[in-house]
Order: sequence, then C-alpha cells, then structure tokens
Amino acid sequence: MSVAGKHALVTGGARGIGFGIAALLARNGARVSVVSRSVPEGSAGEEARFTSAQADVADEAAVRAAFARCCQVNGPVDILVNNAGIAESAPLKRTDRAMWDRIIATNLTGTFLCSREAVPGMVAAGWGRIVNIASTAGLAGAAYVAAYCASKHGVVGFTRAIAAELVSTGVTANAICPGYTETEMMARSVRNITMLTNRSEEEARRLMARASPGGRIATVDEVARGVLELINGDATGLAVVIPGGYAVPAPSFES
Ligand code: NDP
Repeated sequence: MSVAGKHALVTGGARGIGFGIAALLARNGARVSVVSRSVPEGSAGEEARFTSAQADVADEAAVRAAFARCCQVNGPVDILVNNAGIAESAPLKRTDRAMWDRIIATNLTGTFLCSREAVPGMVAAGWGRIVNIASTAGLAGAAYVAAYCASKHGVVGFTRAIAAELVSTGVTANAICPGYTETEMMARSVRNITMLTNRSEEEARRLMARASPGGRIATVDEVARGVLELINGDATGLAVVIPGGYAVPAPSFES
C-alpha cells in the first residue's frame, strides 16, 4: 500500500507532531491538507506544499467549511489524522468547567466532528484510513490531568467504536498513543514542572522520561512513522503505544 496520490488531511498539522506527520506523508507522495486555528503566514519549505485551512476543530460549521476547501483542492479525503489537541493540568479541585469543556471539545469532540466529515466519502470509495493521536494518557491515569486523560480515553474508545462500525468497509481506524514527545506542548509541560516543583529543567525531563513508555522522550519522527505504518497496514481498532518496548537503554542483566 502507498500513500502516493492520496489526499491526507492532518488536523493541527501546522507544527509539532502534526507537522511531522504532514511532512512525512508529503515526502511519501500524498497530497496534504492541514487544518488548525492559525495558519502560518508566508509558509516556506515543506509547509508550502500543504493546502492550509483555518478552523477550530471543535466548531462544527468551521470544520465543514475547512473540509470543503481542502477537498476542493485535493479531492475527497482518503486519510484523516486527528492530531489537533491541547493539554492543560490542574488538580481536580482547580479544574474549572471552562478548562474541562475546552479540553473535551478540542481533543474529543474535534476528533468526532472531523471523522464524521470524512467517513462517508471513505466508505463510498471503499478505502480510507483514520489515525487518531491519543496519548498514553488515553490508556492509563495520571495525576493532575483528569480532563486531558478523560479526553484521550474518549479518543481511544471512539476509535475502537468506529473501527467496529466500519469493519469490512475498507476503512480502518486506529489510535496512536505517544508518551511525552519533543514539541512545544512538551516544552510547556517542562516549564510547568520546573515552576511548580523548583526542579531544574534537566530533572523535569528526567522525570518525564521515567514516566514514559520505553523510559525516554519520543521524537516527532517516531510518532509520524507509527502513523505511516498504520496507514500502510490493514489493522483496525488498535491503540499503539509510542515508543513501545522496554526501557531504553535496555536494562542490563549482566552482573
Ligand atoms: P502542539 O501544541 O505543539 O501542536 C498542537 C497543534 O494542534 C497545533 O498545530 C495547533 O495549532 C493545533 N490545535 C490546537 N487546538 C486546536 C483546535 N481547537 N482546532 C484546530 N487546531 C488546533 O502539540 P503537539 O504536537 O505536542 O501535540 C499534538 C497531539 O499529540 C495532541 O493531540 C496531543 O495531545 C498529542 N500528544 C502530545 C504529546 C507530547 O508530549 N507532545 C504526548 C502525547 C500525545 P493552532 O494553535 O494554530 O490551532
């Protein structure tokens, strides 16, 4: 299977993990559209090859308009990567309604709205790929991120549900669950930890690596390669942890 010539739409593809995914898909010959709230001006380099549309993924009408614009340029969506997301942390008693609503709306409702927009065309074509960027927080609990965890557990559940619904249509739906990954979002988490705990940046990064699968921070490239593998395969309903495997470097069993 090749993504060459396919239309891949990546939400939040203007920076971070989404940009890495969009760039890898473009390098493999896909026609790439990116949808985010802000569209970088005067795009250069790889971004120049993307079709950009501006939308808040939680806004139903804006999503519909952005999809229409991207489909007008690149044809029906063959591959959808629901990557747009936000993260905020607070203890439960300081998680106010506005923060809860913001996180659920972007991470979970946005994934629903964009999938619903793309699926009919994929089913009609008899082929489609949906990859949702969840998180390890979609598979396990963590302190001070109840809203984020709930949204990402929701993304994993939503992925499994639509995978079951779409089985035998040629459309697959899978989730990627990265641990901490080097992006602006992670840099904000490092700053938060240093501010709240008086730890150095290096200590904060060590703690985050220890809390990650594989015992280390993931790279954008690893996440993007995981997405490409799921697109190229036929598996559906998976929630793939990145990086997988044991602690890196692997534990030594020598005496
Ligand atoms: P960044 O903050 O670096 O980038 C997020 C992207 O999403 C931006 O392009 C942003 O653009 C877009 N975005 C945010 N909110 C909206 C919205 N309401 N509508 C449309 N676009 C939006 O984050 P990362 O690249 O780190 O994260 C990408 C995904 O990966 C997220 O879903 C995140 O939860 C997940 N993830 C990240 C991890 C990490 O450690 N970095 C770990 C595990 C999962 P704009 O602001 O212009 O809208």
